[in-house]
Amino acid sequence: LKSVVIVGGGQAGFQTAASLRQDGYDGAITLIGDETSLPYQRPPLSKAYLLGKTDAAGLLFRPHDFYSSHRIEFVNERAIAIDRTNRRVELAGGRAVGYDHLVMATGAHNRALPVPGAELDGVFGLKTLADADAIAERLESAENVVVVGAGFIGLEFAAVARAKGKSVHVVELSNRPMARAVSHEMSEFFAAAHSGWGINMDFGQGLARVTGDGKVEAVELTNGRILPADIVVVGIGVLPNVGLAAEAGLDIENGIKVDSYLLTADRSISAIGDCAMFPSQHAGGSARLESVQNAADHGRAVAARLVGKGAPYAAVPWFWSDQGDLKLQMVGLSAGAEVTVRVGDPDARSFSILLFRRGQLIAVESVNRPADFMTARKVLASRASLGPETASAKGFDLRSWAL
Ligand code: FAD
Repeated sequence: LKSVVIVGGGQAGFQTAASLRQDGYDGAITLIGDETSLPYQRPPLSKAYLLGKTDAAGLLFRPHDFYSSHRIEFVNERAIAIDRTNRRVELAGGRAVGYDHLVMATGAHNRALPVPGAELDGVFGLKTLADADAIAERLESAENVVVVGAGFIGLEFAAVARAKGKSVHVVELSNRPMARAVSHEMSEFFAAAHSGWGINMDFGQGLARVTGDGKVEAVELTNGRILPADIVVVGIGVLPNVGLAAEAGLDIENGIKVDSYLLTADRSISAIGDCAMFPSQHAGGSARLESVQNAADHGRAVAARLVGKGAPYAAVPWFWSDQGDLKLQMVGLSAGAEVTVRVGDPDARSFSILLFRRGQLIAVESVNRPADFMTARKVLASRASLGPETASAKGFDLRSWAL
């Protein structure tokens, strides 16, 4: 293997390049990224960065000289086509880069707000450093903040805006926050926490329109209620960036389809991170996940395969979200959970929810209980058998049980 080309300079693309060198790969590495910054971490964008606790340099995975010292060519351009016959990636500037192996790590883009007025000045998505900078600038002078969508990013941003003293209103179509990802009990806990911070939450409500004269002034909910808004931040989910792969004739489902080695049907092309749909034993079927863990572990797995140490991808999924003083950590995938058991004390803001399917532990959601999270990662990786009866016993402690 003489040349690896990676399209997408985000979490997954960066990790692939770094791991290839760490694993001893000696050929050429070209990392193609269309954002103006060197590869950087996204999670702080809705947390520490907006709070001013870290700056843009602090977001970078590695400083500039890392790329030259590791012979990773970072090409700051957009890839516009994949020529599978001649194994080359065409760039917007007219150049083409040849590959022996191509890694698609194109990530995902924000779902657009499908209502009139969504294009008004002051309506933002939060995906990139550029988005965060634009939001930070507008937030400074804003009084009334409307957040559309009570998912992780929306709620993290809401907590930040509230901490900055803004009046914050979250509008969510579903009847609870983070509905796609966490248990009812966890949703209720976070809804109460946000209310406690003085954030207004409207569930079961859609947005009818955004209004203003060039610049956003208000939003109208589907029930007719009007909320004043100096800034609207939209976090209603993402869609995988599959355009390039689709045009190149690769299989697309809800993402670029890969096998358990993260390979597409074209054995010279892998797909990883937010854009990839892969078979997951933890999901009990195909999954497309949006997390740092998934992107980074995918990158490591592909690098290992390319240096001859390939194995079916089986990493346990995990995720975190920081909202106010609450650290939510999750491990496993909770879809299809039938029984939940709580350990710890929500009133003390430190507890975990254990989720079971067919009598077996499949996921754990923890708030301010990192020991449970760390233990759960090991338990789920080892496939140790833990049932709800054992976990419900008085005084049950996950860490002691796992010892
Ligand atoms: P990305 O990091 O999105 O990178 C894809 C890159 O490819 C982008 O730079 C894109 O511009 C580029 N690209 C796409 N098409 C092309 C092309 N044709 N040519 C060149 N370049 C291209 N996860 C967690 O686990 N915990 C968190 O707390 C958390 N918080 C988050 C907060 C925010 C605000 C956001 C946006 C995400 C957060 N995530 C979090 C999710 C996590 O950051 C993503 O899952 C992860 O970045 C996915 O990595 P990726 O490499 O697949 O995609």
